[in-house]
Amino acid sequence: MKELLRNIPPIHELQKQHRFFQLSKKYDMEHAILTGLLRISLDTVRRDILKGKMDGTDLPSRIWSETEELLKRKRKPCLLPVINATGTILHTNLGRARLSREAIDRVVEVASNYSNLEFDIDSGKRGSRHDIVEDLIKEVTGAEAAMVVNNNAAAVFFILNTFGKGKEVIVSRGQLVEIGGSFRISSIMEESGAKLVEVGTTNKTHLRDYYEALADETAMVLKVHTSNFKTIGFTQAVSTEQLVSLKEGREELIVYEDLGSGVLYDFTQMGIGEEPVVQNVLKTGVDIVSFSGDKLLGGPQAGIIAGKKEYIEKLKKHQLARVLRVDKMSFAALEATLQAYALNKAKDIPTVRDMLLSEEEVKEKAIKFLDCIGEQEIFEWEIIEVESMVGGGTMPDVTIPSIAIKVHSNNLTAQSLADKLRKGTPSVVVRIQDQHVILDFRTITHGEIPKLVEAFRKIELTCRD
Ligand SMILES: *Cc1c(COP(=O)(O)O)cnc(C)c1O
Repeated sequence: MKELLRNIPPIHELQKQHRFFQLSKKYDMEHAILTGLLRISLDTVRRDILKGKMDGTDLPSRIWSETEELLKRKRKPCLLPVINATGTILHTNLGRARLSREAIDRVVEVASNYSNLEFDIDSGKRGSRHDIVEDLIKEVTGAEAAMVVNNNAAAVFFILNTFGKGKEVIVSRGQLVEIGGSFRISSIMEESGAKLVEVGTTNKTHLRDYYEALADETAMVLKVHTSNFKTIGFTQAVSTEQLVSLKEGREELIVYEDLGSGVLYDFTQMGIGEEPVVQNVLKTGVDIVSFSGDKLLGGPQAGIIAGKKEYIEKLKKHQLARVLRVDKMSFAALEATLQAYALNKAKDIPTVRDMLLSEEEVKEKAIKFLDCIGEQEIFEWEIIEVESMVGGGTMPDVTIPSIAIKVHSNNLTAQSLADKLRKGTPSVVVRIQDQHVILDFRTITHGEIPKLVEAFRKIELTCRD
């Protein structure tokens, strides 16, 4: 073993070899960085020898191939595109909404240039980033005023902190939800400094429960969209209209509704779910609402706050507005997304489009895939009817009829095929159903089909070897 370790060439010798300069050129990598990687490879080889995992043959070429692997990895981004073949439109783990073409173009434009983010072009004076999308949000929601923060979780915290700190906020026990990665209404409330006053029971809360809880210390009544769960059976929740009625004789009481996803497009019209559109919620006279930018709205991550001017103005002036502020790329994407709604072109937004795709349209994509892939030795394909989920913690009880391809294979189990697809480039994430891989074409675009075909061809090749 000592002999083997002695055979490892010293770094200064490797630095002189032709391969060193060749790799540096091929990967456009500075010598200093390449030397660092070379050092790591030498350590790896040394460790492998000590563990008895490596004999002495061809040490230099092993060191160089190890170094080249490291070079490739150094260049590869960690955040990668993924093909979502699960049919779940807002997959929280897969980055939620895809942006529209227009939104992407605007992001690129704003990111590559200086912009009027905080500059008023007309007067030549300092402007406010809050003005960028406020008029648009007012237009599409009918609100008196609006602002945008980092995400909806931030919006909830911000609103509770601004208006509820040191005071009481009333919430129904049926709405004390936990949403995704540890966002709990009760914990957020605690962090914000507002005192939670729970009313009602898990399944039923009445207007009189709120009445009885109203006190001098009450700053706010908060209604929370239960988003990712649904109570059925013997249930009752108090409507936003009824909550607004609590304001009679209590001018200072704020009624705030966290809408969760929030929609600007009326999906109920198309028979999908029962999500109220933001415009209609605001018509009830509720003081403030907030909702996400990247759920059913189909835009970038953002928390949109809309409502009465006096409250929004107060929020804008708060110290936290700076802490939670949104960057120019998000504003660019959000503006383009909201404009699509204002122009009645919501269907240009991928999330909205994918929600509304008919089974026929989904089937077209499945057939296109079959035409492209042709006969394969180890796979057989079957077109089946499935149900797509909306996801993103929205509409948990809603499924949309869709078309999928069920993959049959004698060579691979469903799990090992799913693993191979996931680890490929690009990564393909699928659903397994009845021990078969299922490709739901609702969330696969026409543009992704050639890549999906390629992914299966690669697996076919490695399996035949
Ligand atoms: C999703 C959701 C949030 C959090 O929104 P993000 O945009 O993910 O920060 C807050 N409240 C409700 C009711 C939600 O559904």
